[in-house]
Amino acid sequence: MIKVDLHVHTMYSFDASTRPKTIVNQLYAHPFIKAVAITDHNTIKGYHKVCELASAYEDILIIPGVELSTAEGDLIILGTAELPPRPWTVENAIDFTKEGDGLTVVPHPYRAYGLGDSTRNHDVDAIEILNGLTSHVCNRMAEELAEKMNLPGVAGSDAHTPDQLWTAYTEVQASQDMDEVLKAIKKGLVRVASTEKFRR
Ligand SMILES: [Zn+2]
Repeated sequence: MIKVDLHVHTMYSFDASTRPKTIVNQLYAHPFIKAVAITDHNTIKGYHKVCELASAYEDILIIPGVELSTAEGDLIILGTAELPPRPWTVENAIDFTKEGDGLTVVPHPYRAYGLGDSTRNHDVDAIEILNGLTSHVCNRMAEELAEKMNLPGVAGSDAHTPDQLWTAYTEVQASQDMDEVLKAIKKGLVRVASTEKFRR
């Protein structure tokens, strides 16, 4: 089993300040979270930086991702180090992800820029039911949506600053291997959890 923070921003997101080196150092030092998905807004640059720095360490896993801003709301793609072709619609992003071995996750569906109930119109792979920057009520609504759609629920801190890292994470029944982690999430072999840093 591996514990992974599936939603982390670097300074390559327009609204975040965390340096890639900080993420790698903190992940390496963390007592039990040993994997992270880098999900910057509309760019993969932060992932490449983190990956470069992490290559010096054997026991941490960096998963590529992006939090895509679509007109309908945010959509996270995991498992791809490329951006989907434009226009960035939810459907185009899903098609692009299905062509590779990626995974689509609806982040914070009931927060600002969330897909909300329109999530139901799309063939996504998972729903973020525990987000470190989202209220309990909105996380609970996301959990209910995942239950109704019979989709796996995942968690991530959505950290935009170093102090927000690792508040929420996903336990995945997989070893330290990206393909295995993504397959296990798709199969629902997951459990969400939070650390004592989680304040809401
Ligand atoms: Zn985010």
